[in-house]
This record gives sequence, C-alpha cells and structure tokens, in this order.
Amino acid sequence: MGKDDILAKGAILQRDQETYAITARLLAGVMDIPTAHRIADVAEKYGVKRLKITGDSRMALIGIKEEDLDAAYEDLGIKPQPGTALCQQFIKACPGNTFCTRGQQDTLSLAQKVEEQFYPFPKISSKVKIGISGCYNSCSEPAIKDIGLIGLPKGWILMVGGAGGKDPMIAQVIAKNLSEDEVLEVLEKILKYYRASSQKHQTRNMRLGVILSKEGNERLLRACGLE
Ligand code: SF4
Repeated sequence: MGKDDILAKGAILQRDQETYAITARLLAGVMDIPTAHRIADVAEKYGVKRLKITGDSRMALIGIKEEDLDAAYEDLGIKPQPGTALCQQFIKACPGNTFCTRGQQDTLSLAQKVEEQFYPFPKISSKVKIGISGCYNSCSEPAIKDIGLIGLPKGWILMVGGAGGKDPMIAQVIAKNLSEDEVLEVLEKILKYYRASSQKHQTRNMRLGVILSKEGNERLLRACGLE
C-alpha cells in the first residue's frame, strides 16, 4: 500500500512518495537566531532538501524520512502539529512598526497576545485565519482572512468574514480605532460566536464570511457589543 500524509504527526507526503514535510510554527513569522540555527541543524542532520516559509509564516522542512520524523521533532524542540493545524488555524502578521517604516501599530506584539490568549482556537470546525497588518498596505492580507486587523495611528480597524480559495470573500469592517485591549476583548467574542455557529446544524463547518452572509451581521455585532 502506498504512503499517505501522517496527519497525527503533521507530516505531509511529498511528490517523491517517500519523504515528508513537517512545519515549525513561528510566531508571526519571526524567529530568533538560536531558533534559526536549530532549524538549520535539524535540516542538515536529517537530509532536508529545502526549507520553505509557508504562506502562513511557518517554516517547512521538506524531505524528511518517515523513520526520522519523531527524532526531527524532538531535535527541533516542538510538538507535531496534528491535522487541524495544517493551514487551518493561523495568524499572519506583517513586521508592523517594529521593523517597517510604514507601520502604524505593533503587529508582532498583538500577534503574540492573540496566539498566547487564543491559540489553538478550540472546537471551531472551520478555518480560523487571522491577518494582522501595520498599515493599509495590508501585507498580511487582512481583507481575505476570517478576522483581519489593520493598524492606523488611532488604533486598529477590525474586519470579519474574508476568505480566499474557490469562493473568495472580502472582509467587512465592523469596528475602528480599537486599542489592543479592545481588539483582544472583541476577538474573544467573535471566536465564541464562530465556535457556536460552527456547531449549529444550519451553519456547521462554514467559514465565518459564509455564516455572516447567511445570518447577517446583527447577531455578531450584538455579541461583540458593537451595535
Ligand atoms: S502592511 Fe504596512 S506596516 Fe505592514 S509590512 Fe506592509 S507596509 Fe509595512
């Protein structure tokens, strides 16, 4: 029998039908030098063919043999990300005002807080993609994420309901000038609404934008105190 993805180990079978790609989650796509060294050491040790920054800012190590998967994870010092983590739940952040001259807000700090407070987003059966950008340039594509944030001098713009894929959707702005604390507060309520909707018969497994197009925004705005 041929090989297949090993979702429990977050290992994706490659086109050679022999080796796997695994990914290391990098908070907001940023890593320190020791982490970069560790990844490079693991890549050399296990004969990784290529390193690839994924679209969701993780580091993919491509070309690991099945028998080396556990050891590679151990050397990386991370736990395997099971199936749902594969592009299903992620926060993509641009460098924001930490590095980018155009940045109006601290995207990396917000991404870290969102990750620490909410990740993994439990019991949401559909994708949860969050894009955090430090200005209108939108380098992390907040308008096509389930939840999008854009930093401006007066605070954060919050958008919901975007998606890429076969039926792309542009997120709608539901709040402006939010402080970081207000963003976290509202985010908790949005995720609660999304979780409850993703468990309801009529809206099971649907992306947030599809749920909102069916139900309208009122219930979400009420739940978030944004009426
Ligand atoms: S969205 Fe703005 S702040 Fe972020 S990287 Fe792009 S230009 Fe810089």
